[in-house]
Amino acid sequence: MSAGSTAPVHIIGGGLAGCEAAWQIVGSGVPVVLHEMRPLRPTAAHKTSALAELVCSNSFRSDDPEHNAVGLLHAEMRKLDSLVMRAADANQVPAGGALAVDREGFSTAVTAVLEAHPLVSLCREEIAGLPPPDWDSVIVATGPLTSAALADAIARLVGEEALAFFDAIAPIVHRSSIDMSVAWLQSRYDKAGPGGSGADYINCPLSRERYEAFIDALLAGDKVSFHDWETATPYFDGCLPIEVMAERGRETLRHGPMKPFGLTNPNAPNVKPYAVVQLRQDNRLGTLFNLVGFQTKLAHGEQVRIFRTIPGLENAEFARLGGLHRNTFLNAPKFLNETLRLKAAPRLRFAGQITGCEGYVESAAVGLLAGRFAAAERLAKTLRPPPPTTAHGALLGHITGGHIETIDAGPRSYQPMNVNFGLFPPLTQAPTRAVDGTRLRGTAKTLAKKAAISRRALGDLALWIAGGDHALAAE
Ligand SMILES: Cc1cc2nc3c(=O)[nH]c(=O)nc-3n(C[C@H](O)[C@H](O)[C@H](O)COP(=O)(O)OP(=O)(O)OC[C@H]3O[C@@H](n4cnc5c(N)ncnc54)[C@H](O)[C@@H]3O)c2cc1C
Repeated sequence: MSAGSTAPVHIIGGGLAGCEAAWQIVGSGVPVVLHEMRPLRPTAAHKTSALAELVCSNSFRSDDPEHNAVGLLHAEMRKLDSLVMRAADANQVPAGGALAVDREGFSTAVTAVLEAHPLVSLCREEIAGLPPPDWDSVIVATGPLTSAALADAIARLVGEEALAFFDAIAPIVHRSSIDMSVAWLQSRYDKAGPGGSGADYINCPLSRERYEAFIDALLAGDKVSFHDWETATPYFDGCLPIEVMAERGRETLRHGPMKPFGLTNPNAPNVKPYAVVQLRQDNRLGTLFNLVGFQTKLAHGEQVRIFRTIPGLENAEFARLGGLHRNTFLNAPKFLNETLRLKAAPRLRFAGQITGCEGYVESAAVGLLAGRFAAAERLAKTLRPPPPTTAHGALLGHITGGHIETIDAGPRSYQPMNVNFGLFPPLTQAPTRAVDGTRLRGTAKTLAKKAAISRRALGDLALWIAGGDHALAAE
């Protein structure tokens, strides 16, 4: 089929995800119509009319492909001919081990490439509702600040509960970093619930002194203030930040998320904890656990300092820290299939932060995948999702299936996340010895494990790229 006779894929939103998706699609010879509402309709955070504008920091974070999951994602994106990475590399500014960019140069470069491409039509317009019925392949990449008219239409289509307008993020910890000689596994009153075993939570006990010190630390800790346009943030879903609960009374947390009832500590059965912090499994792999009810606006450094005072979490490694922001995102594991199509309306695909990934790089990576899936489909070919051992596959797994819903009743638990090594399937055999034969310990062991996961990822990505399916093989 020639490009001239191929119907276009429509992309709504010319941000990080939409631009990367457009680039990947036109790379397959399929035309794209890219609909971007700026400058006609601005958002509360964007300042320019350029495509792929970076709304805040100019950093793409670590560029270390061996020991950092986002650095690995960079490496994979480069191998997949990412426009975002190409523009970032061309506009790099010195930032140590991080990849930081000249923001204007970066977005100007992306805009220029897409504007000049013969298969891209750029329409500066807001799509203020569901796209017309004759758009049979659409990627919605409208980001955390999706315009209200479109967000309302999506919410009506999927149900109010399926689309969130704020994230309320509790920190997530790597299970392997929790001290289980202090903490223990048990569900409150040993209740199994619909999907549980009766021992689904990791419990960390606090004595009265530790609890009082913890409350003091919460009250004194530095908090991040809301942006002007976020000040009307409703503390929705009963998701009060823990420091706000502590401000309401020193005992509030002990009667809320830190209540000690229905739990017996097998490490010290005769000592009744004064308060308990519970962590709940967050992903199917069981590698990540979230601190239940611990959504917070504490500054990130303060979170690490204060949460490591919780017995059992002294050496906690955080896969994600807490936050509360204006955001728009779908309950993607429930509503999207493995190629990012909306189950209720398969002509719509979602990409970028609206799927519940977090960050510039992750949004672009999910745009890359959505673009490749849409292009393959347009060409009547099949594209297998990338293996879960790759950074792209791990991120896709988080979005479309890796997260597990709450075991018991409570607010919907899927929350945005950056890529991190906790999303990858564990190694079948983690390295135990260095090349010189000495036994690996501590940081050296952790680094060796990360390097092995990264090697496996790049190897599996190469196989995926070499595989017939990846090359848009016919069904
Ligand atoms: C205030 C703020 C600060 C942030 N800071 C950082 C940071 O420092 N580092 C980081 O990694 N991430 C940060 N993020 C997250 C970051 O926005 C996203 O990770 C990334 O930009 C999302 O990419 P995206 O393509 O999904 O959305 P965006 O890049 O926001 O692109 C979406 C595009 O869709 C357009 N659009 C929206 N609705 C419509 C419509 N109805 N019709 C047509 N066009 C529409 C918008 O104008 C926008 O251009 C921040 C987010 C916010 C809100």
